[in-house]
Amino acid sequence: MSMVEEAILVNGKKIVDAQRNYFNTGVTKSYDFRLKQLKLLKAAVEKHEKQIVDALYADLRKPALEAYATEHTITLADLDLAISNLSSWMKPERVPTPLFFMPGKSRIHSEPYGVTLTIAPWNYPFKNLIAPVIGALCAGNTMVLKPSELAPATSKAITDMVSEFFEPQYMTVVEGGVKETQELLDQEWDFIMFTGGTEIGRIIYQAAAKNLTPVALELGGKSPCIVDSDVNLEVAAKRICWGKFTNTGQICIAPDYIYVQKDIKAKFIELVKKNITEFFGADPKQSPDFGRIISNRHFNRIKNLIDGDVIVGGQTDESQKYIAPTVIDNVTPESKVMQEEIFGPIMPIMEYNTIDEVIGHINAGSKPLALYIFSNSSSFSDKIVTETSSGAVLINDVLVHAGHPHLPFGGVGNSGMGAYNGRISFDTYSHRKGVLTRSFMFDVKQRYAPATEKNTNFLKFAIRKLIG
Ligand code: NAD
Repeated sequence: MSMVEEAILVNGKKIVDAQRNYFNTGVTKSYDFRLKQLKLLKAAVEKHEKQIVDALYADLRKPALEAYATEHTITLADLDLAISNLSSWMKPERVPTPLFFMPGKSRIHSEPYGVTLTIAPWNYPFKNLIAPVIGALCAGNTMVLKPSELAPATSKAITDMVSEFFEPQYMTVVEGGVKETQELLDQEWDFIMFTGGTEIGRIIYQAAAKNLTPVALELGGKSPCIVDSDVNLEVAAKRICWGKFTNTGQICIAPDYIYVQKDIKAKFIELVKKNITEFFGADPKQSPDFGRIISNRHFNRIKNLIDGDVIVGGQTDESQKYIAPTVIDNVTPESKVMQEEIFGPIMPIMEYNTIDEVIGHINAGSKPLALYIFSNSSSFSDKIVTETSSGAVLINDVLVHAGHPHLPFGGVGNSGMGAYNGRISFDTYSHRKGVLTRSFMFDVKQRYAPATEKNTNFLKFAIRKLIG
């Protein structure tokens, strides 16, 4: 047995088998059990606060403000919401019963899938793992968590936290990289949630297909940001700079490129320059609020995208994996920076005359995870919403929709499938089972053989009139 194989055993059994045995006892299904585990997870997140925030700094130089707002505090808010709503989420949903099935009653019963695997990326290494897992727990599953090997301090913090509070046959963490993930993927899961890049998403989907395992894939892509001429440009530019340079641009829903109406482009650029200086000072390398790139591979990939009319930044330092907040003007759809998801602190600026050009360009590419519109005109926004496809649309702001508990957070096409957030996470990790209860009364004899013409005609009539 290889070291990797040994690492993913629980009491000498494969994790999947150990967790399936536990799941099959039925213990994870009751409301009381789920509520108790949710409260335990909350206590665990609270107790390990310092280790988590320190780990995020060690891995990503994430400032404390960001670590709380986007990872730790938001996770506690997710937990509070789940604790308050678990009983209503678990209630079977009553649905109408058409006359054809009367007398009868119809409901949708949410049942846990069983043994689940949740694989996370490094950019929000805590939130992107624990937020979906809250849904898995609420839905009554057992859980294996696979944090990203590229955020090793956070991976360890999560392992310490989970192993202190939970039994491995119910919830456990497997640390490691590609080899460990592949080893996990060779086992048979009841549900897999993956957050990461589109190419790895394909690998996960293929592995899941072997056992017809349902998946949710939270992937990436180039999220456009469109700025109309009638907006409060001061606020728009400030929010866009924040969305672009937070976490050093390493955000799946960062505004990837900016399409600015041509009459306001010069003013917009002026404001972008002003904001970068206000946020990070004259030398962002010295700023405690500006992070670093996660790895040398990503550093070199992003550096290579800096090309053309660089009007702000452009400086890099490999020894620190530092890339300055960078703005590139006069970008076109053919420019190098437009050929892949940037996932770094580069802001390409393109100008447009008519919104149809922008819509045409967006529709010619892969479906984005997020699409941002800054406009005061609802007809302008509505046109973009109806004529393009994306995981989500946010009007007059960036990023914040990810924390909205009543909106599905997920992609479409190359940006993914399935979604999470609040109740939607519960639904994602549940099988929604239709349950119809019929009565012994009114046993319509026409449904049975022999299939006479009269019986057939009666059924044809009844199906059309009493179901539709
Ligand atoms: P990644 O796809 O490289 O890695 C994600 C996970 O997959 C890690 O846990 C890693 O160990 C595992 N993995 C990597 N290679 C593998 C392989 N060959 N086989 C099996 N498992 C493998 O992603 P990343 O670099 O950590 O994150 C960046 C990407 O993630 C970006 O494209 C970004 O847009 C996307 N992302 C999406 C969301 C979202 O919610 N949709 C959130 C964050 C990041």
